[in-house]
Amino acid sequence: MQKEHHSRKPFLIRAHLWQQVLIAIVLGFGLGLLLSPSGVALLPAESAYNLAQWVALPGQLFLAVIQMVVIPLVISSIILGITSSGDASFLKKAGIRIVPYFVSTTAIAVVLGITVATVLRPGNYIDADLMRSMAGDTPHTVKISTETQNDISIPQRIVRLVPENPYQSLIDKDMLAIVIYAIFIGVALLALEKRQNKLVLDLLNSIQALALKIVNWAMMIAPLAVFGLLCDITIRVGVEALFGMSVYVASVLLGLLLLLGIYLLIVLLLGKKSPGVFLRAIREPQLLAFSTSSSAAVMPLSMQTAHEKLNVRKSIAQFIIPLGATINMDGTALYQVVAAVFLTQVFGIDLTLNDLLLLTATTVGASIGTPSTPGVGIVILATILHGVGVPTSGIALILGVDRILDMCRTTVNVTGDLTACVVMDRWIGKDVAARESDQPLPEVT
Ligand code: ASP
Repeated sequence: MQKEHHSRKPFLIRAHLWQQVLIAIVLGFGLGLLLSPSGVALLPAESAYNLAQWVALPGQLFLAVIQMVVIPLVISSIILGITSSGDASFLKKAGIRIVPYFVSTTAIAVVLGITVATVLRPGNYIDADLMRSMAGDTPHTVKISTETQNDISIPQRIVRLVPENPYQSLIDKDMLAIVIYAIFIGVALLALEKRQNKLVLDLLNSIQALALKIVNWAMMIAPLAVFGLLCDITIRVGVEALFGMSVYVASVLLGLLLLLGIYLLIVLLLGKKSPGVFLRAIREPQLLAFSTSSSAAVMPLSMQTAHEKLNVRKSIAQFIIPLGATINMDGTALYQVVAAVFLTQVFGIDLTLNDLLLLTATTVGASIGTPSTPGVGIVILATILHGVGVPTSGIALILGVDRILDMCRTTVNVTGDLTACVVMDRWIGKDVAARESDQPLPEVT
């Protein structure tokens, strides 16, 4: 009876979110191709660009609403993740495993990127004319910061990690500082007596719940948002940009695919989970990451997926996902080295082993500081290029295809965070479970 009633509902209402998002991606891409001046060009270029802005509106609103609540959500989730584990040894156990884990996976991504770019040599396929024309006339204008941190000493950089003025960090959206701030508060709350921390924990519970409520509202228009964002990108970027740079694009994509394969291996060997089950469980955050290019925007869905579909303990999901979205960006790191090696090939710069080691170290460091929003990976790339002697203007060459690569690397970034959750749940989950017993939140009385 119930089944019959269920199947009479229109398909889009019955469909899972991932099915709706997938349909939205195909439709958005299809309509974009029909309208794009470099595709079928059904409309004159100017009207197509105007229409693109309107079609993208729901997507822009969707992203703005999520960005609006992402900072309170990160702060409350990290603090509650730490406090719901019940004692400070959780952080010690998590810290000594998660930091080396994140650094190692990022280093693997970087080595993979360097290998793919060195073997395929995408820079050899670029002719000087194309380079000049693309450098002079880029479809996007991105403000590229050439500011490097080279003049700041390492001890000073370490001190700067602690947010002296948390309000400034909030205004600057300095996520790393915000995460560190939340970790301090979480640990301090654990050290307090229950009667002293109850008020703050209750407040944080409410803040987390209200942030998630707003995210839920935004998720209602997720398929429409995805449709609009994809259509807009296809109209604006066009397809011919992809063909001129196809070997470079293929190198990044191959690297990302190999990295995905390594994640699946990690899930199997370290997380003791079937890769097929893992992939099926995470398709919604993956598709959303692909269409929004923002790990921050997908964070709430990733937390929910980790907890509900991958059965990761709540405190681990609450702690690892926001932390990973901020500092674990393997897809971005891989992309950055492929881009850097590609540009050295285009500019005829030979990299010595020393240069490669420097490139690896800078990229691992840079990916930690890269904010999880669209298009920033390429901005941070400026610092990395500076280190290997590529003129920053070289970025103009790869801007045209950046958005599509951003979509793919963000998908891998999000997959990396979910992989980390599965592994950490296996490594430290049992310690947490005894105290947490997977209650929604600790009873603080
Ligand atoms: N868009 C990426 C992310 O949010 C960051 C990047 O630009 O590489 O994960």
